[in-house]
Amino acid sequence: MNLQTPLPNYINNVWQKSVAAERLDVTNPATGEILNYVPLSPGDEVHQAAAAAAAALDEWRRTPPIQRVQYLFKLKNLLEENLDDIAQTITLECGKTLDEAKGEMRRAIENVEVACGIPTLMQGTNLEDIATGIDEFMIRQPVGVCAVIAPFNFPGMITFWFLPYAIACGNTYIVKPSEKVPLTMQKVFQLLEQTGLPKGIVNLVNGGRETVDAILEHPDIRAVSFVGATATAKAIYAKAAANGKRVQCQGGAKNPLIVLPDAEPQFTVNATAESAFGCAGQRCLAASLALTVGSARDWFTQAIADTATDRVVGNGLAEGVEMGPVITPESKTRIEGFIHAGAEEGAQILVDGRHPSIPGGENGNFIRPTVLNGLEPQGQIAKTEIFGPVLGLIHVETIDEAIALINSGSYGNMACLFTGSGASARKFRYEAQIGNIGINIGVAAPMAFFPFSGWKDSFFGDLHGQSWDAVDFFTQKKVVVERWA
Ligand code: NAD
Repeated sequence: MNLQTPLPNYINNVWQKSVAAERLDVTNPATGEILNYVPLSPGDEVHQAAAAAAAALDEWRRTPPIQRVQYLFKLKNLLEENLDDIAQTITLECGKTLDEAKGEMRRAIENVEVACGIPTLMQGTNLEDIATGIDEFMIRQPVGVCAVIAPFNFPGMITFWFLPYAIACGNTYIVKPSEKVPLTMQKVFQLLEQTGLPKGIVNLVNGGRETVDAILEHPDIRAVSFVGATATAKAIYAKAAANGKRVQCQGGAKNPLIVLPDAEPQFTVNATAESAFGCAGQRCLAASLALTVGSARDWFTQAIADTATDRVVGNGLAEGVEMGPVITPESKTRIEGFIHAGAEEGAQILVDGRHPSIPGGENGNFIRPTVLNGLEPQGQIAKTEIFGPVLGLIHVETIDEAIALINSGSYGNMACLFTGSGASARKFRYEAQIGNIGINIGVAAPMAFFPFSGWKDSFFGDLHGQSWDAVDFFTQKKVVVERWA
């Protein structure tokens, strides 16, 4: 599947060139090569997409759910057939390894599979005889036109936390991908087109801030899903709510792992490295802090340093590469600044990933895995999202101290515990003020049939992405009280 240049929008089932005055380069982060150009679509193109989606709504809503999901069954098959091609595109524009890109699309497909169950998931409830001869029903109806504003780090998967559920529930949809990685959605929309979905059900509008503002202001767009940095999430949540929209915003993270002395050493070190350095640390579920308790420090510290040093870094398309570049030169500079700041706050740079020599990667945004030992727990770096392959080590004496430290943080996306003790696991699961918990798991990513449950500054809203939360988000409940003489 080839892509047009510059990238078109997809509105009312027509690929159309944007009239945008401004466009940005889409760059391969491993090589610096320009791959394409993305338009910063003006608000008018959002209005066109919203008009198409609004016009399609009535007929789509009246299409029986069992017929609506037939398009998703087709989409699932098309995604399977084109998985390698889409994964290649993800690696090209985002930098992660091909295996990571394939894993991302596997998670996307799982959401399509779960949404195929909408004829069951969307059912309401009822009770006969709420009073003598009177029955009451709760039925679910679609919300209307909905939209997603997506981040750069999972160009394929994140839209799928929302879109399949939205359209299966009878809504129509607009996708605004990250302007840094717009190529993957071009491919996904080519497949959506092949499913034969009627006009206006799914629309794609590329762009940046102005495009987002138009989504947040448009009166016909009833619900907005956002995933991205916490500062953006807060602003979008406030603006969408002020405009009367249903809104869910998933934000940033600073994810800690606790390592207890009774954890299995090699397994724990490997899982930590995969969590901290997988996807070059650009996962919202990447471990950023390892809190070693008591004697765990003795076996963990050198082992994680060795594992970080050994990780193979390079172009994600190359065989054997375990970690790709970060997304932009600005990200690389920002991450290097955080490493410097961590050292200024007193940490020892146990493994320094700055200024690596990567054969063929001279123009790429490469940083090797970095380990900061003895990070100041109350310092800025222990509290700031780095979003790069940097793991800070903090040493404490008790699990209570570790949990208190975790609960003092402002984010609540993920925390994990490595232990051989069921009692410690239960205590942690019970007391941690965090929405996604891992026990002897390094990346506690909820499967499609569970909600993605960030807390605190990692989430603004009530209903999360995926599974039954998505069904609640994309339906409005109607109650009917009925008596027949
Ligand atoms: P970002 O907030 O910079 O951008 C996300 C989206 O918002 C993009 O589509 C962008 O065009 C738009 N945007 C950015 N600034 C805007 C503004 N001022 N006004 C209107 N729209 C704006 O995020 P990013 O850098 O693309 O993604 C990385 C962030 O996403 C990290 O913080 C990461 O933790 C977070 N993330 C969170 C989750 C989660 O589930 N909680 C998942 C993935 C990523």
